[in-house]
Amino acid sequence: MEISETQVKNILTRTTGFLETVSSHSVQPYRGCSYGNSLCGVGCYVQHNFWVTKGRAWGSFLEARTNAADVYRATVDRERRWAERNRGGVFGIYMSSSTDPFVPQESRFGITRSLLDAMLEQSPDVLIVQTHSHRVVDEMDRLSALSSGCDLRVHVSIETDRESVMGLPRHASSVSDRFEAVKRMKESGVRTVVTVSPLLSIEDPQRFFECIAESADSVVIDHFVEGDGTPDGRHTMRTRLPDVLRTIDAETLSLDYRDRMVAIAEGIMPGRVGVHIDGFAGRLGPQAS
Ligand code: SF4
Repeated sequence: MEISETQVKNILTRTTGFLETVSSHSVQPYRGCSYGNSLCGVGCYVQHNFWVTKGRAWGSFLEARTNAADVYRATVDRERRWAERNRGGVFGIYMSSSTDPFVPQESRFGITRSLLDAMLEQSPDVLIVQTHSHRVVDEMDRLSALSSGCDLRVHVSIETDRESVMGLPRHASSVSDRFEAVKRMKESGVRTVVTVSPLLSIEDPQRFFECIAESADSVVIDHFVEGDGTPDGRHTMRTRLPDVLRTIDAETLSLDYRDRMVAIAEGIMPGRVGVHIDGFAGRLGPQAS
């Protein structure tokens, strides 16, 4: 994998599309993702974004945005004013939508850490931290401190209860490690959400959602149909993920499967279940979907 350092002019990107209803801005500490060759990378929606990949294979590059925190400090007031005028007065940040803030190289570059420090100085109204990695606990102290100054949610993706899926590479972070991270974050007082996204085949749905109910504050369930930015999941259908899912259980390819999982989750943790973009935005319960 090619790892490089880069300087950016902007770090607070004004959201468009689906993300508009979730937050006013997104922040990407890195461009590319070093989890791209792991299980989540197979169906990862970002690989279809040419602006990000510039034609490079997903998982083959990572650019560390070394001046991210400085740019945050230089632009936060302007972007806050923009959000106040254009996004209902709420300055909200989604970190991150096209990389993972806790790639292994974060221990070397510390870009996410420096951004969290900058946010501690000048906090957004809302911060959503989205990761596939248990390494989020490395920043538990900063996240805990941030949660007293802004409306913080930590989203940890756990898309299946299977530690391995035949035909797919290993998880970037094991299911058990991610559950452990979720529990620790919640115990530290940080609002923690498991995002089952994109929903894969679940071996024991009852047990899976019971574990989530015990470990997290809420759950978000999203399917690649609608979830990958197309109404019929056509981006994901171009990857090998559907073929693998079909060999396990063809039903998982349809939205009916998502709805069935939502019903099970609602039965176990009523009022704490979000679906699709409503869930990512924190709108929970059957009335939201
Ligand atoms: S961690 Fe997120 S951004 Fe990175 S490959 Fe997995 S799904 Fe894509």
